[in-house]
Amino acid sequence: MVAELTVFPVDNGDMTLIELESGRKILIDVNIRGAADNPDDSTPDVAKMLREKLKRDSQGRLYVDVFLLSHPDKDHCLGLERHFHLGSPDTYSKSDDKIFIREIWSSPIVFRRASRILILCPDASSFSTEARRRVRYFRENGLARVGDGNRIQIMGEDENGKTDDLGSILVKVGQLVTKVNGVVDYSMTAKLLGPLPKSDNEEEEEALAKNRSSVILSFDIKGGGVNDACRFLTGGDAEVAVWERLWTEHQNTDWLEYDILQTPHHCSWRSLSHDSWSNLGEKAKVSEDARNALSQGRSGAFIVASCKPISANDSDPPCIRAKREYEAIAKEVSGEFLCTGEYPTKKSPDVMEFEIDKSGPRLKSKVMAESLYSTGIIIGKQPFGHG
Ligand SMILES: [Zn+2]
Repeated sequence: MVAELTVFPVDNGDMTLIELESGRKILIDVNIRGAADNPDDSTPDVAKMLREKLKRDSQGRLYVDVFLLSHPDKDHCLGLERHFHLGSPDTYSKSDDKIFIREIWSSPIVFRRASRILILCPDASSFSTEARRRVRYFRENGLARVGDGNRIQIMGEDENGKTDDLGSILVKVGQLVTKVNGVVDYSMTAKLLGPLPKSDNEEEEEALAKNRSSVILSFDIKGGGVNDACRFLTGGDAEVAVWERLWTEHQNTDWLEYDILQTPHHCSWRSLSHDSWSNLGEKAKVSEDARNALSQGRSGAFIVASCKPISANDSDPPCIRAKREYEAIAKEVSGEFLCTGEYPTKKSPDVMEFEIDKSGPRLKSKVMAESLYSTGIIIGKQPFGHG
């Protein structure tokens, strides 16, 4: 079994599937736009692409072992209700044939009441209801009696002790996630870097409050039987203050190193700078600490922007200046910058698939092309480097 990582073309949004050597599958966020279901619309049908990658369980249900919602914004959970079964496993409908979620990984934000700042879209609201249902099930039944379709792990502690009684289903920031759907999975560990807890420093808290709710994970993925073959750093829509803080905390560790980085917030300038791109343009300054946090690529690292095609105007996200910064970061480690909306072409974007073997991740189309070279079907110099 080879590990794989697939990034789906969902414009400005996230949707990533990790297939572990153990066979377990972790889906991070979804952004399944309605247009994808219409055959006359050119929007990539990512629901179909995802379903083709999943297996059915003994009851005939297509399933993922884990669904992680990085944070409850629409571009990270759109289509959840329509395409996934939510609610007790007993109410699963075969005729609906929705995807069954064995375990949920959720930020503690689902415990917060809706407020002026936290207004949830319908999919996020359904997710929140489902996450709370699973926590209640755990509280009432105890861990040993929680099975597929009822499991949940909470990523990070909530304020005011609301998660204090969660014990074995709570992972605190700074700890490792080692269990996938209730069992220790030796083909991965994930370091939990965020959501960042509330800051005591008032000024910092103000800067952090806006987008510090994203779950930030650094996965160590086994490939070709080798541990740590691929590090994947993913941080939802975390913004500049979050990355500055993470650099302060982790600059003397290897926690921010990656072979694949998903650029935060769809290649937004706001993850790299406090300055306004639309007001200041080229005068806007990059935050050194945030850039440091996001530039710990290992040799040959891939930097993937999950967004629409990036153009040279003042839009943000995606932002052309952020793209230039990430390209420079990739160049420093002989790596590569890729955009999901432009892969393989702007006209017809498709899934971006990485195969992970013992020497790290490789873009699958390249793996195919390389084998054509090695079999002599294509003659000439191999254009594809790989570190
Ligand atoms: Zn987003």
